[in-house]
Amino acid sequence: MQLGAPHPERWNVSDLILFLVEHGGGRTRPLTWECLAFVQGLALELSRKVIGVVLGNNIDSVCAEVAAAKVQEIWKVSAPELETYNPDCFSAALCQIIKPAEPYAFAFAHTYRTIDFAPKLAAALNVGFISDITRYRIDGGRPVFTKSVFHDKLAAEVSFCAAPPHLLSIQIGSFPGDAAQREGRAPVQEKPVNLAGVPDRRRMLQIIQAMKNQVDLSRAQIIVAVGRGIGKQENLKVAQELAAALGAEIGASRPIVDMEWLPRDRQIGSSGQTVAPRVYFAIGISGAIQHIVGMKNSAFVVAINKDPNAPIFKVANYGIVGDLFEVVPALTQAVKQQKGNG
Ligand SMILES: Cc1cc2nc3c(=O)[nH]c(=O)nc-3n(C[C@H](O)[C@H](O)[C@H](O)COP(=O)(O)OP(=O)(O)OC[C@H]3O[C@@H](n4cnc5c(N)ncnc54)[C@H](O)[C@@H]3O)c2cc1C
Repeated sequence: MQLGAPHPERWNVSDLILFLVEHGGGRTRPLTWECLAFVQGLALELSRKVIGVVLGNNIDSVCAEVAAAKVQEIWKVSAPELETYNPDCFSAALCQIIKPAEPYAFAFAHTYRTIDFAPKLAAALNVGFISDITRYRIDGGRPVFTKSVFHDKLAAEVSFCAAPPHLLSIQIGSFPGDAAQREGRAPVQEKPVNLAGVPDRRRMLQIIQAMKNQVDLSRAQIIVAVGRGIGKQENLKVAQELAAALGAEIGASRPIVDMEWLPRDRQIGSSGQTVAPRVYFAIGISGAIQHIVGMKNSAFVVAINKDPNAPIFKVANYGIVGDLFEVVPALTQAVKQQKGNG
């Protein structure tokens, strides 16, 4: 079925919740497990079944990997046109999958790629789309989603007033992948698609090398982030020593990057990277909203600041009010001793 073809006026909605498997290089990406954690929770609340949809070409290893998780089935959607990303082919393929399945919902991680084709898909299916979901609650048997708006300055509660299917995108880091139930053995079903008539309007020419060299802080388990409280560039070594002792990545607030004390790919926040490590150390960072939006999904936050009223303490699990030049070296020493290197 092509994009733009008439859609059913009434959907005969099934009990399925589909989710898009994120993958690359023959392996799943961590976002897959975040999305699975989200749909598993939703399916449990609403008594639905979870199906993983793998889109691409030569995707057997990816299908096998997700089929070993707790899902009802894996749908393998394989075609040469899906080898590299192209919004026309991706949305056409998904249309051909979603229309006959008539699922309750189709969920995916909120990435630059999905946000590129999701509005087109929603329009082609004539269904509602709630993007950038950070949590949800069930009210009267129906989900009410919280989504971020204005770069996380506000949160809005949104629900669908139209009948399903619904399209849902989840904010990265909002549903920890660790919560996904991974034990299972699901069958892999081939779902053929016909993309022959899809117009070839856009093509990926190359991946620019510079992107490959960027530090991907979104995968870091521990981050030691420094802010303007560090005072001068030479003082960065105080934080770098703590990071080395912990095996952590170094991050920074924007002023540190603007002053070129650390490269741009270390910046965390609304105009930098979004991270969700297990532990986040905020050292001499005040906690401006533009910084908080980039790190608020960290599992555990330790803030060190000499100002007891610094907003960072509002999102900290553990706050140390004090001079970072006293606190951080003491912490580094304690970590080294704990690891037997002190
Ligand atoms: C459009 C836009 C986008 C932005 N994007 C980002 C972004 O992506 N990321 C980002 O971080 N910011 C961003 N900002 C900037 C943001 O608004 C703040 O200005 C910035 O986060 C402040 O950085 P900071 O906390 O390091 O510095 P400050 O706000 O100056 O805070 C320094 C902190 O260090 C503490 N301190 C000082 N000395 C010590 C000491 N010896 N020991 C302990 N504590 C000490 C102080 O009490 C203070 O709380 C953006 C702003 C705009 C307008």
